[in-house]
Amino acid sequence: MTDSPENPFENPAVPENPSAQEETAEKPSKIRIHKLEIDPDYKNKALERVHKIIEGNKYDLDKVILVSFEGEILQFPAETTLKVSMKISKKKMPGRLKGPVLVDNEQALKVSIAKEYDKMAQDPEMIRKITETATAREDRCFAQQNLVLQLPFWKKEFVWFEGCTSCRTTGKSKCQRCAGKGVDQCPRCNGSGMCPCTQCRGSQMIQGPQGRKIQCPTCHGRGRMSCILCNQSGRVQCPVCRTKGFTVCPVCQGNGWSSNLEIIEIEAKTDFTYPEEELPEKIVALMKELGPKISQHAQIQLALPEDDPEKVKLEEENKTEEEKKKERQNIDVFTIPIKYDVLLPYGHVEFDIGGQTYYAFMFGHTGTVIHVSPFLEEIIKNGIRKLEDAVDGRGDVAANLRMAAEYRTIRDVIICAARLPLMKAIEKVKERNALGIRDETVSDLVVKADRAIKKITDRPRLFGLLAGLALNVGLFGAYFQGPVRSLLGTKLPAEILLNLADFALLGLGIWIAVLLMQSFASGAIKKAMAGIVPKGKEGKMTPKLGTKGFWAFIIIAATFFVAVESTRHTGATVPGWYQGFIGRLIPGSVPKP
Ligand SMILES: [Zn+2]
Ligand SMILES: [Zn+2]
Ligand SMILES: [Zn+2]
Ligand SMILES: [Zn+2]
Repeated sequence: MTDSPENPFENPAVPENPSAQEETAEKPSKIRIHKLEIDPDYKNKALERVHKIIEGNKYDLDKVILVSFEGEILQFPAETTLKVSMKISKKKMPGRLKGPVLVDNEQALKVSIAKEYDKMAQDPEMIRKITETATAREDRCFAQQNLVLQLPFWKKEFVWFEGCTSCRTTGKSKCQRCAGKGVDQCPRCNGSGMCPCTQCRGSQMIQGPQGRKIQCPTCHGRGRMSCILCNQSGRVQCPVCRTKGFTVCPVCQGNGWSSNLEIIEIEAKTDFTYPEEELPEKIVALMKELGPKISQHAQIQLALPEDDPEKVKLEEENKTEEEKKKERQNIDVFTIPIKYDVLLPYGHVEFDIGGQTYYAFMFGHTGTVIHVSPFLEEIIKNGIRKLEDAVDGRGDVAANLRMAAEYRTIRDVIICAARLPLMKAIEKVKERNALGIRDETVSDLVVKADRAIKKITDRPRLFGLLAGLALNVGLFGAYFQGPVRSLLGTKLPAEILLNLADFALLGLGIWIAVLLMQSFASGAIKKAMAGIVPKGKEGKMTPKLGTKGFWAFIIIAATFFVAVESTRHTGATVPGWYQGFIGRLIPGSVPKP
């Protein structure tokens, strides 16, 4: 047994010695562990990362010392199983479709599909194509769980015909109108073949010369004549079937047969496995978190399939009858394994920064630092103190902010807080400082920076509000007391429009006040940020109004109502809506016109 120095971060799941593992484990381990050659480049990546975090934070980088490094490369197999299954889409179409493979009936179709599928599952060319589709992807299906792969190169179409039961495959049905006779009763003579005489109208006699009645010469006194429509036959052609006696079968539209088309396609679903129980917990957590992206960190090679024919044959022979039977039953979910050989380095690093020891976890062949115990708080503590002074109003707020901003990390915090709404600023700073500093510290710093900036704009915002108020007093007074409103009243066609104009003026007043507050505040921020934000980028600041924005609304609205109320006392025209409002509020206060 090797005696490694005690490291609280070393995962106990990693066997220290492969021979010891074999003795205790029931199954031989799938993982091989290679001691990482102490590659100075690899551990230096951790040092570089820590340097990057510290840079610009007024700290001597030479004081960062790499104390220890322990790393190894895990080698383990992984497998993505492709479960190839069928997708069947059915379509019923009129007529007898040509093209697809014709089978006798539904039963025969099932047999044919099974056969085709069986053939495909045993076709080495198909297996090669499917494997190629999966491995041609950028991720080679590594770490892909339940991914569905489309395999458009395999498609079979079958059809079986079904005779129309409604017309017994003739495509024709008996004419409903003439009951299949093809003829219809003559509508003119109602089937009698005879019609009343058109001259005597059936009376047999007509008025002759000298007022005497004489026999009708047209019908020779019979009063009836043969029907001209049916030629005395009493029957005419059936208007629906035109003597045929049948019509097109409405069920099959005359085809007599319909086609049951079934299109069979295949798709593959992935199932990814790797020796999860045998890998260090931290590695398993990262595999789960990163998913297919793990391939950016690990070296993943496709393991060649077992192509020793002797061995394959032996395996086949060793299969029990039971297994063979099961294989045949499972034919509709035949599987193709894709095997990988994974090489994944990781390392534990210890640093000394100003006498304190910190830990970092490195992962993958790129030497990505995944975790560093927080150390930045300590390095920037003087800057944090200045920021706190700014918040609490000790000394000049802007000067304290500037001093705090000499630390790159805090400058980042201040700029984000000045430009973005609070929650967004916190998110952004957290995103940019994921390593080496606690999340809570980041949120705390952004909240403080936000408060300090509000402090800078406190007075300018108040001045802005006062200026807005003064402007609005003048504006509202001139509008309600002066001639503007009554002039507008004569120009506008309806009183409702004048009422709307009143409220538009209120909106305008609030807008002016907010605008003034913003411009006063942004001037103050720009001045305070002059030494913090890089030149040329000052314009992006959004001044925050805070609760003063709300008060501006209340105060301007109150001023507006005072101006309206004053019209009742100065003899100016009282707005109609206000009269109605007061009348309802204090009955009898407004004299009825
Ligand atoms: Zn039919
Ligand atoms: Zn007919
Ligand atoms: Zn007739
Ligand atoms: Zn007649």
